[in-house]
Amino acid sequence: MKLKKIMVWIMMAVMMIVIVGCENNSDEQQENSSKPISTVNVGELPEDVQEIVKRGVLRVGVKNSVEGFGYQDPITNEFTGLEVSLGKDIADYLGIDVEYTAVTAATRTELLDSGDIDCVLATFTITEERKESWDFSTPYYTDHVTVLVEDSSNIVSLEDLIGKTVGVSSGSTSARSLVEAMIEKNVITGEGFNVDTFDPARWIEGVKFQQYDDYPTISMALSAGQVDAFCVDKSILSIYHTIGRSYIEEEFAPQEYGVTTRKGSGLSQVVDDLIQKWKADGTIDALIAENRLE
Ligand code: GLU
Repeated sequence: MKLKKIMVWIMMAVMMIVIVGCENNSDEQQENSSKPISTVNVGELPEDVQEIVKRGVLRVGVKNSVEGFGYQDPITNEFTGLEVSLGKDIADYLGIDVEYTAVTAATRTELLDSGDIDCVLATFTITEERKESWDFSTPYYTDHVTVLVEDSSNIVSLEDLIGKTVGVSSGSTSARSLVEAMIEKNVITGEGFNVDTFDPARWIEGVKFQQYDDYPTISMALSAGQVDAFCVDKSILSIYHTIGRSYIEEEFAPQEYGVTTRKGSGLSQVVDDLIQKWKADGTIDALIAENRLE
């Protein structure tokens, strides 16, 4: 009788150990799935990156309306897209959380310069001029610029843009790219064009530009006839390419997107090493496919 009782107690104890063991296991898995264990040696990181690790969160500027790149679901508030995933992957590498801030072409550099964000992953084109002020990683995606019009406008090519007003985002490469493409195609002479001093607000040869702070406003201006055309990278324009609207024939000005960081910061090197590695090992190609950006 005594022996039976002891056996029952032993069995119950074994069961308790198994149950507790399973629970611990499932806790670990949950932690693992939300934040993978980082293998980085924090002591070997540049000082500014060590500070970010101490803070425990990487602050990333992303777009919130560019589906496939940076998009925030208005109901769940969740961010998705290639650039959102790359931001999370950088934070995972450092073993810290990621926090997204919605930026526009007009606000992304101010927020980076002020230190509100650590890096920008927001369809930010690498240009020689911009490289003087910020660091850019190796490009992770290449897009082209084109022009979106209402079908009723009968505009189908760069030539048809003569005498028209084009909506562009302030702080973007779009207006300059369009003028350069028109000069290259001999649609305009380009007299007075200077790549370093070009100002969309003052350009009047062939086309005029109206600058806006965000893309939804340009799309509305196009519908309302306040502008005749909408010019920017195709990845952004595709969101506004609705029924009754078409792209013109030409695509021009390759736009290489890079992760942007403060000039000379340690984070620049860390991020560039990661982007190079993820380009080589297929991580970026997989994210491009996952977000249907091929
Ligand atoms: N990619 C272009 C640029 O960096 C278009 C603007 C934008 O990203 O919103 O100027």
